[in-house]
Amino acid sequence: MIAFTGGIIDRADARRNDKAWLEEQRHSRDLRVLALADLKPLLANGGLSWLAPEDIPEDAWATRLAVLLGLIGGAPRFALDLSGLSLPAGRGDYVDLRAAAGLLPPDELALAGLARSLVDWHARHRFCAACGGPTALRRGGAHRQCITEACAAEHFPRVDPVAIMLATRGEHCLMGRQTRFPPGMFSALAGFIEAGESIEEAVRREIMEEAGVAVGAVRYIASQPWPFPSSLMIGCLAEALSKELIPDSDELEELRWFSRDEVRQALCGQAKDFFVPPPIAIAHHLLKAWIAGG
Ligand SMILES: [Zn+2]
Repeated sequence: MIAFTGGIIDRADARRNDKAWLEEQRHSRDLRVLALADLKPLLANGGLSWLAPEDIPEDAWATRLAVLLGLIGGAPRFALDLSGLSLPAGRGDYVDLRAAAGLLPPDELALAGLARSLVDWHARHRFCAACGGPTALRRGGAHRQCITEACAAEHFPRVDPVAIMLATRGEHCLMGRQTRFPPGMFSALAGFIEAGESIEEAVRREIMEEAGVAVGAVRYIASQPWPFPSSLMIGCLAEALSKELIPDSDELEELRWFSRDEVRQALCGQAKDFFVPPPIAIAHHLLKAWIAGG
């Protein structure tokens, strides 16, 4: 399972237009709330810590960002930004989502990722990009709308597509090191897909820009929502037409071809002088797909 996928929430899209229904969800005795502080979800005992209505500090519903994530088993689940407020004792701790990824079961991790992306997007879109006026949350948080009548522009949570790719040539694949990586780590090349590009075109452009290598066939392998803040990683394998490298030193501090044996060892944490991203990252799964002959 690719991390941040496998969520089981019903987003209840069709019912969100009904204001009375939304109000009922907000006052349901079955409602459960995932609190976030500074975008960190609340965890307890290795899982998400769902707060009951009576756990929520007074006024929080009126003063804090609350988003209806959807329904689980018919019961409403909200995300609520409680940054800076104290909680009843024993309800758990706020944990950075990257650290939580190693703790949470897949469906809860997917939900926490959804909550983080949405809360972050709402916090950054309080003003209209068209007229500069204030915006208000609509349909339980599925989008926002400018409250200036003459404008009334609607704004939808954005997802930024990123191509992440492993260029391969025979028995070798290409990985690079960004300066911000921990020492010794190499990973697949990646970059935002730009306006006017297909996924395949973005893959070819990125590999040319970062490595100076022309690429032929590009094949989609898998994708991953990446909630930092809200990307969609689109993983591909790409057939390089040569192995000669012209690295872009602005983007990467090192670029290397690795053999299948080296990658096999690295996936078990046993390579001699480098390591690869852990299973939370789609790069790990791209390497596995290539090793498996994908
Ligand atoms: Zn506006």
